[in-house]
Amino acid sequence: MKNLTPIHTSSSRPARLAALKQSFQDWNNTQDAITRLCRRLSTTLSLENQLTILADEMSGTIPFDALNYRNRIARQDFVFATGMGGPHRCEYRLTLEGLPYGTLTLHRRQRFSDDELAGIEMMLSGAICHIRNACQFLTIEQAALTDALTGIGNKRALDEALQRASAMSNRHGYAWSLILCDLDHFKQINDHHGHVVGDHILARTAEKLEQALRNSDTVYRFGGEEFAILLPHTNEQEAREVADRIRNALESIRVDGGEIPLTVTASCGVAMHLTEESSEQWLARADEALYRAKAGGRNCTRVFASIS
Ligand code: GH3
Ligand code: MG
Ligand code: MG
Repeated sequence: MKNLTPIHTSSSRPARLAALKQSFQDWNNTQDAITRLCRRLSTTLSLENQLTILADEMSGTIPFDALNYRNRIARQDFVFATGMGGPHRCEYRLTLEGLPYGTLTLHRRQRFSDDELAGIEMMLSGAICHIRNACQFLTIEQAALTDALTGIGNKRALDEALQRASAMSNRHGYAWSLILCDLDHFKQINDHHGHVVGDHILARTAEKLEQALRNSDTVYRFGGEEFAILLPHTNEQEAREVADRIRNALESIRVDGGEIPLTVTASCGVAMHLTEESSEQWLARADEALYRAKAGGRNCTRVFASIS
């Protein structure tokens, strides 16, 4: 900050303050399209909100029937769409300093004129820094919810998902089940073969889990060698079957371990969400079922029955 020396012009300080006040009012009330667009975009870091603002500001100058935006951010597809498409379209690959920030497409029944295309490009030029910031924010937000070793959701992501699932289960009354899956005697693998091999097995475990599950199911690593699977529209009997299928899939993992390939087994605890139960209580019941699976000899599934 010590290098920040104010620029003194010949005008007096009160005159400069008055000019600042005028400038602020002009900036706030401007009808200038780019200034207004940038001012509105700067109020949010949400990519979805920014695209809503962009569509709103653009439609005032250049009418269109549909605006679509897509981008792949942190292993996930981000898609935004407003309106219904027309036969004519213009598509822009958004880039800044050589890096891509998604593809934006406008659709319309009539052709876009050259002047309109130039106008769209001007608005996109004004918006691109804000869109870059929103994309980067989403990347960081996603990273905070992702386990670095396996690329699946972490404990924080699980906590958020459990809370959402509990709320939806309470509101709509349909079944949600939770499976906790813990690798058996994993410490021995680390002790005998080292952490690098252990890490490799954890990464393969996450891959297998994702392959073995439906798209609507979500998988998280919520502890060292502990994984959680959240299953919408699934009762405890169906979840038990999924847990057994998962254990079979994990048993098929083969990792180079010297003379004979290394294999793993897992124990699973299952609990179906109960009405009005908190996410902590739900997790605790699944953990209790997992504890029973371990106590029952490992490499098996136990269900915390909702009706005893
Ligand atoms: P159990 O069948 O009772 O679950 O036995 P276990 O050995 O799997 O369980 P325990 O809780 O005694 O040990 C878990 C081990 O998981 C301890 C640690 O060596 C290992 N572990 C935890 N996090 C990581 C990790 O990020 N990488 C590797 N390689 N190992 C991990
Ligand atoms: Mg274990
Ligand atoms: Mg464990």
